[in-house]
Amino acid sequence: MLPFRLIMAEAVFPGSFDPVTHGHIDIITRAASIFDSVTVAILNHPDKVGFFTVPERMAMLEEQVREISPHVRVDCFSGLLVDYLAARKARVIIRGLRAISDYDYEVQMALMNKSLREDIETVFLVAREANSFISSSIVRQVATLGGDISKFVPKNVVQAVLNKIAVKK
Ligand code: ADP
Repeated sequence: MLPFRLIMAEAVFPGSFDPVTHGHIDIITRAASIFDSVTVAILNHPDKVGFFTVPERMAMLEEQVREISPHVRVDCFSGLLVDYLAARKARVIIRGLRAISDYDYEVQMALMNKSLREDIETVFLVAREANSFISSSIVRQVATLGGDISKFVPKNVVQAVLNKIAVKK
């Protein structure tokens, strides 16, 4: 007998999204085709300064999700992810898996979240091969060194990254 029924109404896709990449957008699009609604939740880290501020990351993501589905929204949270899910009455965490290197950390987080709240499930979507080497941090590095990032992030993000680099110089 099943211990509980998983109601796949709302899924939360948490992360830093600093900035959003084509890899993230693909996962959001695929999650939106599985779940009734998807909330992309930016972790507002209390002691970590990002490349972009959380409101800047939210604005870039909002511009992208508008084109995906009206059932996708963008939010931010601080504190424990499982508490954020509980407050939203959500039970599913979406994560993208790029490579074996993601696996250890992702399984550890999924098991920790499960042990904190038994009713939560983590669902992994495997990154598309073409996106499997893209990460926000590598995109930031390449752009800072003058490389072309237009294949990895949406247009509005390319410009935002270039503007941010110019301001930081
Ligand atoms: P975090 O700091 O939580 O890892 P990220 O913004 O780097 O935040 O990633 C958020 C989620 O998106 C994670 O589940 C990550 O595995 C996934 N992700 C990141 N880049 C890609 C990609 N290129 N393809 C698929 N999933 C990705």
